[in-house]
Amino acid sequence: MGTKANSVQVAPLGEHYLQLHARAFRRSLLRWFGRNGRDLPWRRTRDPYHIMVSEFMLQQTQVVRVEGYYHRFLTRYPTLEDLASASPAMVRESWEGLGYYRRAVNLHRLAQEVVQNRAGVIPSETEELRRLPGIGRYTAAAVASFAFEREVTPIDTNVGRVLRRVFHSRARSRALARRLERSAEMLLPRGGRKAWMFNQAIMELGALVCTARVPHCGICPVRAMCQTAVRETARLPQHRPGKERNQAERPRNRGDNPLAGPQFVEVAGPFTGRIQPSQPGSSG
Ligand code: SF4
Repeated sequence: MGTKANSVQVAPLGEHYLQLHARAFRRSLLRWFGRNGRDLPWRRTRDPYHIMVSEFMLQQTQVVRVEGYYHRFLTRYPTLEDLASASPAMVRESWEGLGYYRRAVNLHRLAQEVVQNRAGVIPSETEELRRLPGIGRYTAAAVASFAFEREVTPIDTNVGRVLRRVFHSRARSRALARRLERSAEMLLPRGGRKAWMFNQAIMELGALVCTARVPHCGICPVRAMCQTAVRETARLPQHRPGKERNQAERPRNRGDNPLAGPQFVEVAGPFTGRIQPSQPGSSG
């Protein structure tokens, strides 16, 4: 039978670790992003329609491919109303080459739904956003955060990978999704603009540094608090004098599984390019 003392809620081990390192993680991440984040067009706007277009295009497509299409699409359909009034054939033609046409169909339906039933106003809350065509959990959070600076974290594969490697390197996959959500909630700074910046930053870290194939731990701003990096560093040859040769020769490529452990590759020199996020309400 449990005593009163036994019934006290104790945070799981992973949460203690996160609480200990949360502040340093945020500070290091944000400083790095200020110096290295890419100046992407959808980071210069808070226009929900523009953010929506970028999020639909970025689903399963790389940033470099999306940039050109994003500008062209918005030149052709500058407003939600312009898109809503276009014919399906026109929209499909504008999407030509980007692939996954279901996204174009859903975006078009979404524009029509918002214009006809919501007076052309894209909702700002995740629950409302999820009622729109083609909007899942991630996209709802992304639009709420990137357009409206709501305090939610969109967890895509990049964000999930970073959180897992830094704070939950030993977590089993069954409990992982909930733990990642909880970690994101605990790490997210209060205040819309700071939350916006944090979400962009962690996504960028996963895209540029903590990549699925080759995590560049040597230039990573959060390596000092990363469970995976600390553990892997302890395994490096210099710490196991008798095993240098075997360790060095062991193949370390673990494939493209975002939940797999990292390779440790030193990459010389910082990323270039600076980010200058616009003020809320500015237009792209
Ligand atoms: Fe990823 Fe390495 Fe950075 Fe950890 S230290 S977050 S594994 S790149």
